[in-house]
Amino acid sequence: MSGGEIGVLGYRGMKECEIGFAVPAANLLGGVEGHGFKQLMATFESARIQTAARAVGVAQAALDIGLGYARERRQFGSTLIEFPRIANRLALLAAEIMGIRQLGYFTARRKDAGQRCDMEAGMAKLIAARVAWAGADNAVQIHGGNGFATEYPVSRLLADARILNIFEGAGEIQAQVIGRRLLGPAV
Ligand SMILES: Cc1cc2nc3c(=O)[nH]c(=O)nc-3n(C[C@H](O)[C@H](O)[C@H](O)COP(=O)(O)OP(=O)(O)OC[C@H]3O[C@@H](n4cnc5c(N)ncnc54)[C@H](O)[C@@H]3O)c2cc1C
Repeated sequence: MSGGEIGVLGYRGMKECEIGFAVPAANLLGGVEGHGFKQLMATFESARIQTAARAVGVAQAALDIGLGYARERRQFGSTLIEFPRIANRLALLAAEIMGIRQLGYFTARRKDAGQRCDMEAGMAKLIAARVAWAGADNAVQIHGGNGFATEYPVSRLLADARILNIFEGAGEIQAQVIGRRLLGPAV
């Protein structure tokens, strides 16, 4: 093992470091030399579906935490949830979560059935990551100054959400995958 640990904003459960192995040719991962990238790409449908599912989880946590706080916190004689601007933020998030959850299930069912789903997985990841980010941002906003304090779990959601639009292919890459299927030659 070589190299130092890389510092990350969130996603702290994962430890990252550089490793190297001396592997006999007979034990080559994937079995065929020079095909590593192609073999890796083949795993990306599943990886993007599970990343979309994680984004649904982050968005749902943002809704649960934001709603809980808005019901309890009183300002100017009302609970926050009684302010329409607050209720509307949460209502939109609830509707968006319904959409990304169903898109995730739809894509996962295609994958389980052995059908091509690179475009659908790209769509699910792209949109779910955006909803998770917007949801986390709204939940922090609802917490006011407390949302910026690490003592409140909501502050962690921002960091958890931000990475979702980067790893397993950044948002731009998902857009490229979707664009190729929509605009490219029929298959
Ligand atoms: C916490 C964490 C965990 C990770 N876990 C894994 C893992 O388990 N396995 C693994 O293989 N990798 C993992 N990664 C790596 C991750 O997949 C890459 O960081 C990610 O794919 C982006 O690649 P890059 O960092 O090389 O960015 P670059 O490729 O340098 O891209 C930088 C930015 O440029 C833009 N960009 C890049 N290409 C294009 C394009 N074609 N068109 C338009 N814009 C573009 C995007 O905005 C992108 O965010 C992890 C990264 C992090 C931070």
